[in-house]
This record gives sequence, C-alpha cells and structure tokens, in this order.
Amino acid sequence: MATAQNEMRCAELRRDPASPVDSAAAATGHAIPALRASGLKVRYRNGAVGIEDVSLTVNPGQIVALFGPNGAGKTTTVRAISGFLRTEGTKIVNGRVEIFGKDVTAAEPHETYAAGVATVPERRKVFSSLTVDDNLVALGALPGRGQRKAAYDRVYDLFPILAERRGQLAGRLSGGQQQMLAIARSLMRQPRVLIIDEMTLGLHHSLHEPLFVAVRQIAAQGPSVVIVDESTGFALKVADYCYLLGAGQVRDSGPAEKFRNNDLLAVGYVEGD
Ligand code: ATP
Repeated sequence: MATAQNEMRCAELRRDPASPVDSAAAATGHAIPALRASGLKVRYRNGAVGIEDVSLTVNPGQIVALFGPNGAGKTTTVRAISGFLRTEGTKIVNGRVEIFGKDVTAAEPHETYAAGVATVPERRKVFSSLTVDDNLVALGALPGRGQRKAAYDRVYDLFPILAERRGQLAGRLSGGQQQMLAIARSLMRQPRVLIIDEMTLGLHHSLHEPLFVAVRQIAAQGPSVVIVDESTGFALKVADYCYLLGAGQVRDSGPAEKFRNNDLLAVGYVEGD
C-alpha cells in the first residue's frame, strides 16, 4: 500500500519531459549546459585510476541520476567536479569540467562553489555539536542579516521539520533529518548545480521519499540536481536522465524512463541490501 502511494506521489512529481527550460534551449539552439564533464580521467596519488573516461551533461533545471556498483567511480566523478580531489593532491589527468561554460577543471573547491556548484558529501558530515541553525551557516555566513533570514526561510520552507528543530543539536537529529540538514546547508547560497553523493546511504527505505520530494522541489526552483544513489526506485522516478558507470566509464545513459523497467540490480549497476 505504502509502495502504491509512493508510486502515485512520484508520478505527480514527475515533470513534463519537455520542461520550459528544455523547450527554450531547443528553440534557441544555444543551450549552455549547467554542468559538462568531458572525457574525465582521474589518477589517485598512489597511481590507482579512479575514473578512466567519464563524460556527462546536466542541463539547467534537470535532475540527473548517477548509478554504478561499488568502485565504479561515482564519488571520484563527484569530487573531480567539485574540486575536492585536488585538495588531496589528486589530479584530473585528462578531460574537462565546465559549469555554465566556465572551465573549472583545475579549480579549487571554493572556486567551483563560486561558479555555482554545491556538494552534499557522502555520509552528510553535519556538525553534530552545533545547532541546526548554526550548521546552516557553518560553511560561511551570508553577509547581510536580510539575506541570511531569506536563506533560512527558503530552506525551512523546504524542510519544515528542521524549522521545528532549529535550536536542537544536529547530532540529536535522525539520519534522515541530518541528510535534510546537509542538503539545506548546501542550498543556503542558492547554488546553480547541487550534487548529492549517496543521498539515501544508510537510511531506512521509509525515509527516502521526503528526500526525493525535496529534490523535485529544488529542481523546480531552478538549480540542476545530480543524485548519486544506490536506491534506484525513487531516483529513477524523479530523475530526468541517468548515467550508469562501470569500471570508471559511462556504460550506458539515457532518459530515466529507459531504465525504469530494467533490473539494474541484476545487471550489476546497483547493490542489493
Ligand atoms: P563506492 O560506492 O564504493 O563509493 P564509487 O562508485 O563511488 O564506489 P569510487 O569511490 O569513486 O567509486 O572509486 C573508484 C575507484 O577509485 C576504485 O577503484 C577505488 O578503489 C579508487 N579510489 C577511490 N578513492 C581512492 C583513493 N583515495 N586513493 C586511491 N584510490 C581510490
């Protein structure tokens, strides 16, 4: 019954594939992708190849899902785009990353952030000993009081449960609420591309739906969203487009509906419980 309700909820949430953004882009023929990664190859400091050849495109306002088995290169791809790999001395040895046409291949995390990319890291990494309110500004307070209030209002509208707990320590929130907080924190400065790594990792299945509902709401407000997730059920329902990674390469890609009836578990692109 719960599954049937979830199906209906997600069906309601699914957008018309010909979104206004896509139609406008098609009409002008000059679409600049929100994110474009071309031929990315990453080699770690110990010589291990993290990804061999990954290309992907995310259009403005689009939701893109990235699937792949353990070691496929999902996190390496996310960290290559965000610039966090470079803080560890790991380099992109081939390829290019662009955010709205701006080359950020060699950029530091604060530069990709300034270009509009915000990342929710694997395992959330909220600050347990800070309150919900303080977590939201822990990565850099917004300059004006008015701006800060507007940002708080925006994210608390998206996640009312966090508003109710804004004075509570983040360490006392449930796993699902901590993931909401990690997403909310990344949204404070209105990124143009939000990347969520392992969104439902370690969360009970019953906690997944509100997160996917929020993803749909976020994308409806403008930003593109990239979801890396092992739970394909909801991800395939809300995503517009999917990439399947395997052994550091894109093995398949296409509109989400292409994969909805495929058994990704059977072909090894997702892990079982
Ligand atoms: P998982 O779901 O297990 O996190 P993934 O698809 O995110 O898998 P990555 O973590 O990106 O895969 O790993 C891709 C490859 O890079 C793997 O072969 C992995 O062993 C290697 N790798 C990842 N991190 C490092 C690192 N810090 N140093 C060396 N090799 C690494």
